[in-house]
Amino acid sequence: MANVAVVGAGLIGRLTALSLVRNGYRVTIFDKDNKQATQSAAYAAAGLLTPLGESLHCTPNIVEMGIVSLNLWPQILAQLQHQVDFQQLGALMISHQQDFGEYQRLTRHLTRHYPQHDMHKLNQSQLFQLEPQLSQQFTQGVYLPLEGQIDNRMLLTALKRELECKLINWHSESIVTGLTNALDHCALSANGQLHKFDLVVDARGTGARTQESSQKAAPLTDLRGVRGELFHLLAPEVELTRPVRLMHPRYQLYIAPKANNIFVVGATELESDCRKPITVRSSLELLSAAYSVHSGFAEAHIQQHISQLRPAFNDNQPQIRCKNRLIQVNGLYRHGYLIAPVVVKQLETTVEHALKSRAPTSGESVSSNYSSLLPIRFC
Ligand SMILES: Cc1cc2nc3c(=O)[nH]c(=O)nc-3n(C[C@H](O)[C@H](O)[C@H](O)COP(=O)(O)OP(=O)(O)OC[C@H]3O[C@@H](n4cnc5c(N)ncnc54)[C@H](O)[C@@H]3O)c2cc1C
Repeated sequence: MANVAVVGAGLIGRLTALSLVRNGYRVTIFDKDNKQATQSAAYAAAGLLTPLGESLHCTPNIVEMGIVSLNLWPQILAQLQHQVDFQQLGALMISHQQDFGEYQRLTRHLTRHYPQHDMHKLNQSQLFQLEPQLSQQFTQGVYLPLEGQIDNRMLLTALKRELECKLINWHSESIVTGLTNALDHCALSANGQLHKFDLVVDARGTGARTQESSQKAAPLTDLRGVRGELFHLLAPEVELTRPVRLMHPRYQLYIAPKANNIFVVGATELESDCRKPITVRSSLELLSAAYSVHSGFAEAHIQQHISQLRPAFNDNQPQIRCKNRLIQVNGLYRHGYLIAPVVVKQLETTVEHALKSRAPTSGESVSSNYSSLLPIRFC
């Protein structure tokens, strides 16, 4: 039974650790945060699973991974002992009359590139059937029945409990400062101690950037942080049942209804690695846009405002890199939840191959069900 460490217990770290334990590996987790993961991008996220809604702003492989992952999420959640809210009631895309061009751009794009997937153009009365409170303000919309959302914080808690039940050795508040990779093992240093493993999976998100990582910790020099800001609003006057996205020429606003009248309103996307609290400009833009969708947000209470960095490579593509006994998975950008199930499947394959007596070397490829969507890079 191989002895594997997972560094980083955010979204990918937790899911990977669980899948490895289930496949019979001995797993140890290291994370610099507490077990709630409050400092992770995973905690900050909105949990939207909207591949077609994203399709204007990402490449087709991300859309495809999102569609495949939507089918895999229920299987993952069914294996957890604790409930996680997962919804697949579709999503609505709407635009104000003056932004009708955005509506046309989306419908043309979906018709041309994704004709095999359902898209319904709605008039006002059809909109009323789906979301009655939006039909006073909007006369048309696009309904994407495939789309969904997940309660990200419930998921992180459920995964924590599941990993605890499996008696996994979890070093929380342990910052990993060194990673030494060899042909038959990988060593890491955390809190002044050296630990040796058969294999290490590095899932540190933005913690693997050069700015945050010492040279000894195998930093990813081409990784950057993309700032995202959002609000959690308590809005008892607003009734929406599914994620709504406002098509706008300058910003992409979404409103994700969660349990107990909470609405996640987000998110900005700024080329900045600043982690300071949300700015006045972003607050004005997000809240004004939310109010323009539903005037009931005027009386909402701001429960939380969040700013966090999304880990992204230059091309905004996720990557799995493997050299000897170190696997680095990163760059999930704004699509972590959307694509995580496929990423974890590819990681399972990578771990299996990395532990072979003759592991693939630089340039070699390994084929799997998902390699056309997310190739594994052996270095
Ligand atoms: C505002 C916002 C909204 C988002 N909304 C969505 C959405 O609606 N849908 C969607 O699909 N995606 C969304 N995302 C993206 C998603 O959250 C990320 O893609 C995903 O969380 C990345 O997962 P990860 O495991 O790579 O990194 P993270 O979740 O950030 O986890 C990294 C972990 O590594 C740990 N770590 C870092 N450095 C070290 C170290 N040196 N030693 C030990 N531990 C370390 C951290 O503490 C953290 O727990 C959003 C992101 C943001 C910021």
